[in-house]
Amino acid sequence: MLRSYAAAGVLSPVAVDRVSGYRYYSQQQVGQARTVGLLRRARIPLAETAVFLTGPTYDQIELWQAQLDDEFDIRRHALDAARKELNEKSTLPAVIGPRQDSGRERTTTTMATVMSAATGTDRGLLRDTNQDAVLAEGILYAVADGMGAAGDTASRWALETLRSEFTAAPSPDGLIRACRQANRMIWEHASAVPEFDGMGSTITALAMLPADQGGPVAVNVGDSRLYRIRDGRMEQLTEDHTIVGSLVRSGELTREQARSHPQRHLLTMALGIESEVTPDVVAVECRAGDRLLISTDGLFNDVPESEIITAVMASDPASAVRQLVDMAKAAGGADNITVVVLDAS
Ligand code: MG
Repeated sequence: MLRSYAAAGVLSPVAVDRVSGYRYYSQQQVGQARTVGLLRRARIPLAETAVFLTGPTYDQIELWQAQLDDEFDIRRHALDAARKELNEKSTLPAVIGPRQDSGRERTTTTMATVMSAATGTDRGLLRDTNQDAVLAEGILYAVADGMGAAGDTASRWALETLRSEFTAAPSPDGLIRACRQANRMIWEHASAVPEFDGMGSTITALAMLPADQGGPVAVNVGDSRLYRIRDGRMEQLTEDHTIVGSLVRSGELTREQARSHPQRHLLTMALGIESEVTPDVVAVECRAGDRLLISTDGLFNDVPESEIITAVMASDPASAVRQLVDMAKAAGGADNITVVVLDAS
């Protein structure tokens, strides 16, 4: 029951195991699930149910009752009016012309930042499949790390949806909407099709938008990462949506402790887990000579950051990608490895 409510976006798990797709719930949520079941029978919209659960009151239930009475009145009057209309007028068949479909509005954008880029993805040494996906098209660069039995499908869909939506609206808002649409696409399939149950994906996407559109911007959901390398220093620009990530931010764990923490795989946010997602949005301050790295956790979980810096600063993006993938495999290759390296100029 909890699983189906989570799929509907009402009772969200407190954490999700990124490897197995297993969802964790609190004890309090079991009681809430019974309330959700009753409200669903009363046909209360799920969004309202979710709000109700944050502070349940008798007043709200009375309000719903009043709305129900009003709605029946309105519907009854409308049916009466329709009945009268039918009596008074002769009914002519409607004339339907060819559909005027203007299509989606397309905006063209000029690329203000010339750069070179390279991508690489590798199954690693221990996994049977590669559930990562990578995208580099025009000014859009992204990685996705799928989870669950159909994780490879989830990550591929995430990036295909992102690409088609962003291409139609290449702007900061367009990037956010594309990310939300990718979430909805995966969530709808995960909720409706048994073989896709439990599928999800991370996403880290960077759009190298020109200065007149606010400059480069990134969105992030999950624990893939965007780094900027400048003057020999590497800085993570995205925040990990993991339980250990929040412990690092609050100072309770160091980054090195987090790397080997047994619960490092537990994500607090991913695409496909809830009906809506609010991605982190990062304005990427970027100048000539900066190098950017986007990667899935198969790289940084196995390789210390000090070693990543050495490899990522190779002469050109293609060599950097090769070295990073080789390095992750030399460190055990326990997970799929995906990297994008690009130079701003
Ligand atoms: Mg991974």
